Amino acid sequence: MKRTPVVLILPVIPVLLFGCSTVTKEQQLAKFIKLHVCKIEPLTTQANYAYWDASTTGKSGDYDRYKRLQLDIRQIYSNQREFAFLKNLKESDQVRDARLSRQLDRLYYSYLQNQIDPALMKRIVDLDARITEKYNRFRGTIEGKKVTNSDVYRILTTEMDSHKRELAWRASKQVGDAIVTDLIELVKLRNKAVRKLGFDNYHTFAIVTGEQSVAELDRIFQELYELTNEPFANYKRELDGVLADMYGIKTEDLRPWHYHDPFFQRTPLVFELDLDTYYRNHDVKELAQTFYAGVGLPVDDILARSDLYDREGKNPHAFGFDADRKGDVRILANLNNDERWMETILHELGHAIYSKYHDPNEPYLLREPAHSFTTEAIAMFFGRLSRNADWMHRMLNLPQDDYRKIQKVSWKYTQSQQVLFARWALVMYHFEKQLYANPNQDLNSLWWDLIEKYQYVKRPPGPLDAGWASKLHFTVAPCYYHNYMLGELFASQLHHYLVYNVLQRQSDEDVSYIGEKQAGDYIRRKVLAPGALYYWNDMITQATGEPLTPKYFVQQFIR
Ligand SMILES: [Zn+2]
Repeated sequence: MKRTPVVLILPVIPVLLFGCSTVTKEQQLAKFIKLHVCKIEPLTTQANYAYWDASTTGKSGDYDRYKRLQLDIRQIYSNQREFAFLKNLKESDQVRDARLSRQLDRLYYSYLQNQIDPALMKRIVDLDARITEKYNRFRGTIEGKKVTNSDVYRILTTEMDSHKRELAWRASKQVGDAIVTDLIELVKLRNKAVRKLGFDNYHTFAIVTGEQSVAELDRIFQELYELTNEPFANYKRELDGVLADMYGIKTEDLRPWHYHDPFFQRTPLVFELDLDTYYRNHDVKELAQTFYAGVGLPVDDILARSDLYDREGKNPHAFGFDADRKGDVRILANLNNDERWMETILHELGHAIYSKYHDPNEPYLLREPAHSFTTEAIAMFFGRLSRNADWMHRMLNLPQDDYRKIQKVSWKYTQSQQVLFARWALVMYHFEKQLYANPNQDLNSLWWDLIEKYQYVKRPPGPLDAGWASKLHFTVAPCYYHNYMLGELFASQLHHYLVYNVLQRQSDEDVSYIGEKQAGDYIRRKVLAPGALYYWNDMITQATGEPLTPKYFVQQFIR
């Protein structure tokens, strides 16, 4: 695409041409958007392709090109004069046209995110990079011997000896103490940077620029807390019984290292059934392709452009990718025929169809998901099917016996995983909120206060370390974690609405969505097509009849 060099001279032009009185705020904005998109669209598309090249080749030249383009984009959004212009328009309350007003919001928050003082910004970026580097280079030790993450994972999932488990668990947290001083400095720097913009602290700033409000998140998480208290207590009691038996200890002697995952964010593998065997003789790509075609959201074009299999130098993870907001949508994956990759391809194609089915007539700035958590929700909605017994039964032609076995075990696993993740997300949300409100408090104690409150796991004996800082999200993706939970909530709310109102079923018991074109069509019209035309909670209200609530998540998974 040709890059159009444009110098922004708004809002001077309209004044010269027409005089201020006759040019409405809406006209000024429309003109601004036109010029802005001329600059931002080609840059964004180039940056996207650079990212794709970097991820598929692993070449440092491609990464450098991507970083350079990102910097160019950030440069545009850091323009103070343009930000002042947008702020003035927003405060004037004279932009009434719904489409223009939504574009103004998107622009305003994109600029606001980039109004941090450049000198401070540089210090933040440098410090962030230094911590990440330290983190990546650090190796925990067990009795003086260096161990890797996979050593820790193996010990925590298979070792029966409590002392060895404790050593491995502690090894996984050691990096916390190594980076915590820098991390607290980073928190303070982030706070300092946003106070200049009129915010109490960085947590509030991140929430507000993400078009959310702290009060609303507090309300949602409080409700989630209350609704999951009792079911989680029951689940935890049952799990503790199983684990204590397994290790040959009393339940009151269970400690954080007995729970398989270093943060107890994943359910221990005690209720698990190996689902991989069912997928081994199938092609997960074909299964996904057939399924999406069946719901009337075909993905053949997406798959044809995608990079699906493992290769030297290639990014080992997976993501959905919208190159140009004009239909070049792809996914990157490293497929294997097992359950994990079945879930992953359904998930990433969920992201991809969100982008593919944006209404092409909407303006460029609105051809995006309503929020990052709403595209996560669509991805989760479809990704969840890889463990759905009815889905597996029909897609894999399983015998009745296997079906019943999966139904029983897999459902139990899914339920425990969901309730457990909800409690973990509560820890993350409240810790980050308080971390930024007062980084000088005793954070190690605060961390364990929250874990005892939400996860019902007792703190370890002896002095507390800064193990919490070993959660890399605090460094590289600050104040974002709550969105994973919101994604789960919306996925369940949408599921509930589709089952009872669109498919008009009496229960969701054997719903697999296979061949349910009505459901696919509803999702396309109400969620995917509008893109960012509506504020996320307005979109959710229009799609499901009410604003985002944890009610349906609890109804779906906690019975
Ligand atoms: Zn995702």
